[in-house]
Amino acid sequence: MKVTEHFEKAKGQTLISFEVLPPLKGGSMQTIFDTLDPLLEFKPPFIDVTYHREEFVYKMRDSGYYEKIAIRKRPGTVGICTSIMHYYGIDSVPHLICGGFTKEETENALIDLNFLNVNNVLVLRGDARRFDDKFTPEPGGHEYAVDLVKQVVEMNKGKYLESNIENGQKTDFCIGIAGYPEKHFEAPNLESDLFYTKQKVDAGAHYIVTQMFFDNSKFFTYSDKCREMGIQVPIVPGLKPLTKKYQFNSIPRNFHIGIPEELTREVEKTTKSEALREIGIEWCIAQSKELKARGVPCLHYYTMGDTETIRRIVAAVF
Ligand code: FAD
Repeated sequence: MKVTEHFEKAKGQTLISFEVLPPLKGGSMQTIFDTLDPLLEFKPPFIDVTYHREEFVYKMRDSGYYEKIAIRKRPGTVGICTSIMHYYGIDSVPHLICGGFTKEETENALIDLNFLNVNNVLVLRGDARRFDDKFTPEPGGHEYAVDLVKQVVEMNKGKYLESNIENGQKTDFCIGIAGYPEKHFEAPNLESDLFYTKQKVDAGAHYIVTQMFFDNSKFFTYSDKCREMGIQVPIVPGLKPLTKKYQFNSIPRNFHIGIPEELTREVEKTTKSEALREIGIEWCIAQSKELKARGVPCLHYYTMGDTETIRRIVAAVF
C-alpha cells in the first residue's frame, strides 16, 4: 500500500513510522531485524530505509602514497526494503537520491522497485560528498529533488526516457519529499526554501517528511506557512531523541538545526550520562505527545540503531 493510502485509512489517527539505515558493508540483514523486531508491537504501517551514496576516503597504498577512492559504506537499500516487505509484510519506503545517479540509472532503479512491488519512494537530492564543497550532480543526473520528482511522475504516466517507448507500463509510485522546519542550510531563508518545496509538491509529490527538530513551535510555524502558500499535502514530523552529550554540538553542526535553550539548561544540570539520556527521552515524549494531540498524520522516528530508546518513547505516547 502507498503511504498516503495508510494516512487515508487511519482517518485522522496519528500513525507511527520508523527509519533505518542500511548496515555498514559486511553487516547482515539481521541487524535490521534486531532494530525492528522490538518496534513491531507498535504496528508501523511503513518503514523508511535511507540511501547512502559513495564517499571519498583516503587509502594508503604499498608505495606509501595515499589514494583518494570512492566507496559505498552502506549499500543495500533496495534489498532491505524488499526483505522488510517479505519478512514482516510491512510496506517499505526506499530513499532515492539524485547524487551519483544519471537519469538512466534512476530510471532503471525505479523499474527494479516497480517490479519488486515497492510503490513508495522518498525523493531527495542528497548532500555533497565528503571533501566536496558543494553538491554536484552526476553528468546527466538531476540537480534538484524537484527534477527527480518529475521523472517519477513521468514514469507514473508511462513515459520513459527513450521517446520511442510507446505504451510503457505506468508505475504507481507514491512520492514523499523532505521539508525543513528550520530551513535547508543552503537556502537563504525559510520563504525561499518553501518556494522550492512548493515546486516539488506542484510537480507531483504526495507528502512531506521533515528534518528532525526539537522545538515543536518551529514545526507548527512551518506547517502554517506551508498551508498559507497552498501546500496541502500531509506533513509528517521527523523526530529523534538527544541521548548523548556530544549530540548537543554534532546535531546542530550536521543537521543545521537549533536546540531549545530550555533543553540545554536541563542538560547542563547533570554530568551523568544516564540522567542526560532520560532528559532527552522525556523531551522527545513531550514533543511526540503534543504533535499527536495536534493531529499530525504520523510520527516518523529516526531510529539510528537505538531501538530501546525509540521503543520507550513510542510506548509512552501510544
Ligand atoms: P532539494 O529539494 O533539491 O533542495 C536543496 C536545496 O536547493 C534547498 O536549499 C532548496 O531550497 C534549494 N532548491 C531546490 N530547488 C531549487 C531550484 N530549482 N533552484 C534553486 N534552488 C533550489 N540524504 C541522503 O543522502 N540519503 C537519505 O536517505 C536521506 N534521507 C533524508 C530524509 C529526510 C526526511 C530528510 C529531511 C533529509 C534526508 N537526506 C538524505 C538529506 C538530504 O538529501 C539533504 O538535506 C539534501 O541537502 C537536500 O535534499 P532535498 O531533497 O531537500 O533537496
